[in-house]
Amino acid sequence: MIFDNYEIWWITGAQLLYGGDAVVKVDSHSKEMVDSLNNSGKLPVKVVYKGTANSSREVADLMTAANNDPRCAGVITWMHTFSPAKMWIHGLQILNKPMLHFHTQYNAEIPWETMDMDFMNLNQSAHGDREFGHICSRMRIRRKVVTGYWKDDATLERIAVWQRVAVAWADSQDMLILRFGDQMNNVAVTDGDKVEAEIRMGYHVDYCPFSEVLSYFHKVADADVDALVETYFKEYDHEKSLEDKSTEAYRKIWNSAKAELTLRAILTDKGAKGFTTNFDDLGDVNVDETGNGFDQIPGLASQRLMAEGYGFGAEGDWKSAALYRTVWVMSQGRGCSFLEDYTLNFDGKQSAILQAHMLEVCPLIAEQRPRLEVHFLGIGYRKTQTARLVFTSRPGYGVTATVVDMGNRFRLIVNDVDCIKSKPLPKLPVASALWIPQPSFEIGATAWILAGGTHHSCFSYVLTPEYWEDYAEMAGIEMVHIDKNTTIEDFKQNLRLGEVYYMLNRSFYK
Ligand code: MN
Repeated sequence: MIFDNYEIWWITGAQLLYGGDAVVKVDSHSKEMVDSLNNSGKLPVKVVYKGTANSSREVADLMTAANNDPRCAGVITWMHTFSPAKMWIHGLQILNKPMLHFHTQYNAEIPWETMDMDFMNLNQSAHGDREFGHICSRMRIRRKVVTGYWKDDATLERIAVWQRVAVAWADSQDMLILRFGDQMNNVAVTDGDKVEAEIRMGYHVDYCPFSEVLSYFHKVADADVDALVETYFKEYDHEKSLEDKSTEAYRKIWNSAKAELTLRAILTDKGAKGFTTNFDDLGDVNVDETGNGFDQIPGLASQRLMAEGYGFGAEGDWKSAALYRTVWVMSQGRGCSFLEDYTLNFDGKQSAILQAHMLEVCPLIAEQRPRLEVHFLGIGYRKTQTARLVFTSRPGYGVTATVVDMGNRFRLIVNDVDCIKSKPLPKLPVASALWIPQPSFEIGATAWILAGGTHHSCFSYVLTPEYWEDYAEMAGIEMVHIDKNTTIEDFKQNLRLGEVYYMLNRSFYK
């Protein structure tokens, strides 16, 4: 749905050197190409053709309009003919939306026998796109360059990736994260500079006292809670005995449902796209077991709200909450979760990391229908029976990511991982995944630790490293990538180069 709220603008670079007829032709070629992109069924966001730009004035006007149109999530530029790039300087100075420079050509194969100068003048991207590329590099413009024929699926997929990231980027420029409770005391890696985060990545982080959450809690209607509990029993496997209204377990599920309705109400009311919780702060410390307040941590609520697209970070981790929301948008609501490095499994070449959390793992990564269960949870100040969804996650390739604050910059850390078969945990009934970081447990975990990565990360079966490359480019933040080719020697060298680059290069502060 969110993708329908945005569009991508297409601007064709041309000039009047070859006469008005040539520009008319350029215009018709561009329309045909944009129509073909839109009709391909491969692009999640509609591309809107904005005409040819033939002068500095026209470029600047189009870029100003792109900035001012909230529907525009980004701009695709393509130089049909040789487009003298000085005419792009003012426009590029103005543009503050993501840009994709598409290096393609209207004509596919050279018509060797018939090609004349007129034909060549109308198929001059080889020339024009390099002129344009030069001015972008000279001006240190952050962008994605996609090279490929405009009808090829591989080309369209690269544009589609960028479109999804551009929409997630637009979404994060209007993102409010609510912190219900503060950061977990003394934890460094989940904390950071919220002012800088808003400057660099767009989202705003607010504190919301738990007393305010409870004011919403008291307004939730019992009938709505009853209905939601019914939904739980329909959607999830469970022991029949849980439906017995006289039991403590039923009361715990009922109170979880009330917590979910409370959180959704306050998030909706405040227009927030994500939230954090703190297991040590559930409001009234004197709450009894009759349901007059949050009688357990809202784990089940967090699981379900994550699946719905709300950003979530545990223990006050607002960076993960924001990043998870971005992952969910880029993944188009499929196969993603907030996760935590839980415990290690040393097993030779199959050594792996169990990924879980106290409770809060998103059911979008479940291998089987999640199971609703109630068990004792002995952590936090309210140690009590607690409702949760339990499942294991499917084997397969995925990518996990985190952002850390290095003091002078944000660093995005991305790791390709191979999920392997996990097992149920009868004595620790929580949802989980089990993965081997690439290139191996030993190298992957070492690199992650050297980069300063969190124990929390945002995982997706759907995303590829290309998404994160596009995201880091839009945000202008450092990205380090751990994959099958990573060696510790090269990785350390990359980290050292990053230190120098971000110390000397201030141009990322556009
Ligand atoms: Mn945690």
